[in-house]
Amino acid sequence: MESVLVSSCLLGQAVRYDGSDKLCRHAVLQRWIDEGRVLAVCPEIAGGLPTPRPAAEIVGGVGGLEVLAGMAKVVDSAAQNVSMEFIKGAEYALERAKSKGIRIAVLKEGSPSCGSNYIYDGTFTANTIGGLGVTAALLEKAGIQVFSEAELEEADALLKQLEMTCAPHRQPKNPG
Ligand code: SF4
Repeated sequence: MESVLVSSCLLGQAVRYDGSDKLCRHAVLQRWIDEGRVLAVCPEIAGGLPTPRPAAEIVGGVGGLEVLAGMAKVVDSAAQNVSMEFIKGAEYALERAKSKGIRIAVLKEGSPSCGSNYIYDGTFTANTIGGLGVTAALLEKAGIQVFSEAELEEADALLKQLEMTCAPHRQPKNPG
């Protein structure tokens, strides 16, 4: 059975920077939970950051790949450089995914760690730009397909496709 890596905040864990959660009640996610295929991860907590914590953004109008390459940094609203914590959390998430052979992740959109379609632009003015957060970038680089909570149907379709592809060939009961 395929497992799926999911942002802890989407599962109702109060791990966001402001101490809240982003519980997602989508039927696909609920079914995955019932099937026992969900592995929760919060990269920022795994990277050593507390809850609550100052909001953080990737600066320079770029994304997580540039942070991983040392060409950009993640800074919080108190002007602290938290790039190391974000990278450490991303590496933890990747290790967790690898340990379960995970090929699909559903991560919270817009986060400087978990965003997969857009992130905030680093000006702390609520402007968004297309791009990946640090964890989403590292997972995608490793070949894991990252979806947002708005793409659960697409993620479920891929999951079913992967399971069909990997299903063992049935041996005929009475060969010959
Ligand atoms: Fe949610 Fe990801 Fe932010 Fe953790 S790092 S609170 S899992 S969006």
